[in-house]
Amino acid sequence: MSRFLSPEALRCAPYTPGEQPRDQRYIKLNTNESPFPPSPKVLEAVSRTEVEKLYLYSDPTCAALNTAIAKRYGLGVENVISGNGSDEILAFAFRAFCGEGTGVAFADITYGFYEAQVALFGVEALRLPLDGDFSLRVEDYMDFPGTVVIANPNAPTGMAVPVSHIRRLLESNPNRVVVVDEAYVDFGAESCVPLVREYGNLLVTQTMSKSRSLAGGRIGFALGDSELIEDLNRVKYSLNPYSVNRLSLLAGAAAIEDEEYFQASCQTVRENRVWTTGALEERGFTVLPSSANFVFARSARISGGELYRRLKENGILVRWFDKDRIRDFVRITIGSKEQMEALVESIRRLTAGR
Ligand SMILES: *Cc1c(COP(=O)(O)O)cnc(C)c1O
Repeated sequence: MSRFLSPEALRCAPYTPGEQPRDQRYIKLNTNESPFPPSPKVLEAVSRTEVEKLYLYSDPTCAALNTAIAKRYGLGVENVISGNGSDEILAFAFRAFCGEGTGVAFADITYGFYEAQVALFGVEALRLPLDGDFSLRVEDYMDFPGTVVIANPNAPTGMAVPVSHIRRLLESNPNRVVVVDEAYVDFGAESCVPLVREYGNLLVTQTMSKSRSLAGGRIGFALGDSELIEDLNRVKYSLNPYSVNRLSLLAGAAAIEDEEYFQASCQTVRENRVWTTGALEERGFTVLPSSANFVFARSARISGGELYRRLKENGILVRWFDKDRIRDFVRITIGSKEQMEALVESIRRLTAGR
């Protein structure tokens, strides 16, 4: 740390991303990327001619991308904002809808990036414990007057809240913004997007990083009432007006238009999740009911930390959180069938005789 660091930056609590090894030695099941390449349409869209145009700025309004997203979800372009990953969109939302007099509430076990936003923007946070079985009770949030953020499905548990519960939350107080982070919704949870037209206090964020195989493209978006989107744009144009680069604008639009490829890859992930869950349960694991492209699992025979370390020695990366309540678990991204077979075989060897 330099002696020039501001007190505000000193209070930051930077997010710790999952390991990103530079070599390809590992079977990478630690950051919930897709095991598949992006749609072939993406490769066509990002042509050499388009690369040559990089001397020009990107469209700050993201018009073509937002139009494609709006069309896909049956909304108007005024209901969409795109960003450099949904992390950026979430940051815009924390800046726009939390602050002096308006705190934020989220689950004690959820996406770690929310804590980073709380520290960055100096927002007061209420962390509401998930139930013993890791389900989220919306009742706990009803009386909270500030902004509510719910990852649905949640990370790292993979568990989903029914949309009917979120509807109750939206209705209980129309003067409070509810942000639903749907980073994993495409893998089998019910989406709140159809509620966007009904509720002016709902903001849904999604990402192309997981279900559309574009983690490296950094494309996220939010859907909401046009006034909420306007507020997010106010923050965006104060921070980074050209936040989505030219190539990602093209890649994102092409990905969102290739419905068939998207459906097929989500379906494969779901099938592999069912297979992996069964195989882990056969080995005596407890696996939380997942609606995402990962499973959260624990075994009485091996601690989470040891399983993480031994798998790494065997060339398989999973995610382990050294945190109360979830220390016994590892989070395993659902990859290709071959990757999951290698994982299960490795676990079989590691737990044999225990
Ligand atoms: C991965 C993830 C995101 C953000 O991903 P981006 O790559 O920034 O779009 C947001 N929320 C949750 C819960 C995630 O797991």
